[in-house]
Amino acid sequence: MAARDAAMLIVRELRDAGHVAYFAGGCVRDALLGHEPKDYDIATDATPEQVRALLPRSRAVGEAFGVVLVRLGGNNVEVATFRSEWGYTDKRRPDHVIFTDAEHDAKRRDFTINGLFADPFERDADTGGDRIIDYVGGRADLAARVVRAIGDPSERFSEDYLRMLRAPRFAARLNFDIEPRTAAAIRPLAKHLGQISRERIGMEVQAMLAGPRPALAVRMVHALRLDGPVLNEDHVDVPLHTLEALTRDASALPYATLLVGWLIDRQFAGELSFERVVNFAGHEAPARLRRWRKALCLSNQHHDQAKAMLALLPVAYRWSALDVARRKRLLAASAWPEALRLLRALPAAREVAALEREAQPLIEEGVAPPPLVDGNDLIKLGLTPGPAFGRLLEEVYDAQLDGRVRDREGALAWVRERARGV
Ligand code: ATP
Ligand code: MG
Repeated sequence: MAARDAAMLIVRELRDAGHVAYFAGGCVRDALLGHEPKDYDIATDATPEQVRALLPRSRAVGEAFGVVLVRLGGNNVEVATFRSEWGYTDKRRPDHVIFTDAEHDAKRRDFTINGLFADPFERDADTGGDRIIDYVGGRADLAARVVRAIGDPSERFSEDYLRMLRAPRFAARLNFDIEPRTAAAIRPLAKHLGQISRERIGMEVQAMLAGPRPALAVRMVHALRLDGPVLNEDHVDVPLHTLEALTRDASALPYATLLVGWLIDRQFAGELSFERVVNFAGHEAPARLRRWRKALCLSNQHHDQAKAMLALLPVAYRWSALDVARRKRLLAASAWPEALRLLRALPAAREVAALEREAQPLIEEGVAPPPLVDGNDLIKLGLTPGPAFGRLLEEVYDAQLDGRVRDREGALAWVRERARGV
């Protein structure tokens, strides 16, 4: 069932029981902009208990916040009771929410463009779309393409500092401006973002970099002086050459790639050279990345991908000095495609061109053929597993990669020969 149809059924159900229910927030915004909403949220005056009693297959996800998740026809729809508390600073988590009406609910949301409701069963006289219920001036701001805090910006950001980070996320995603008073309220409060849990900050940053304009989002984060508190470092004013080059003609890059690009831009403040980046990658970068792991609550997977990418840069830098086996190892590394993407974004055009030219025939030969001999073969030859055993396996694989051994017989003979010395 289409997500919209599922959401309409739920609205119908709630209304048949005498409740007020609307589409709310992001789905209304996206539909008005002509984008397909990625999911539907419903706001209602029914309490979570009433919602759960009316809708089978529902479960409370944030009962304290009045949110019930309803599964219908393969869709997840969040049904939230109109509430007067939205979000929380981690220091001041409300232990209960006060339920209210639609208007107060709208006015406690973050930005005007996120504060709209829609009635899917009535038509708007002008547009013929859903009737819009707008208590906050969201429609005008959608038309003017601005992200504006609802009400007094400083007050709203002080209620939940994370909203400061949500402003550039939505602005970059929609290619909107942040309304000047809203932006002006963020700068002096930016440092307080550090009070928000690292988990919430990390989720927001990941969502921001997953959007269509990650370099723009990061540029706004820097301009608003949120970069320091986000990364738990000092604020720096830097051009984003690497991030911009990375994203120039590619969209939806892996999170780890964008983080490494950002890290490099912050480190070099525009004074980039291939050599300096390689030096950084081989020295300070891993420790800095570990601090980012904490600051952004990075998953092990994202951290390890970024780390592996950085580790390949010094190897790529030595390309002309590498033997064939080492070159093939580099090309076969799982982090190589993203490391190469990064190299192309660095001032390393000449080196990368040579590397790509020389890599081509190796790639055609196959950079990671199955090994001709494995550990079992070595055991059959009477060797015992251990460090020397591991090294021998690597060496025979190198010999295979650079063509010194060409078949299984040759590889076994090579091992027998070497094993005498082990
Ligand atoms: P997305 O498509 O990225 O999910 P969204 O608008 O649905 O965009 P959510 O973070 O899912 O964004 O939040 C849903 C709605 O809840 C928002 O549109 C906004 O009205 C409200 N909201 C969410 N977080 C906050 C917050 N911290 N403070 C105030 N309102 C919020
Ligand atoms: Mg959402």
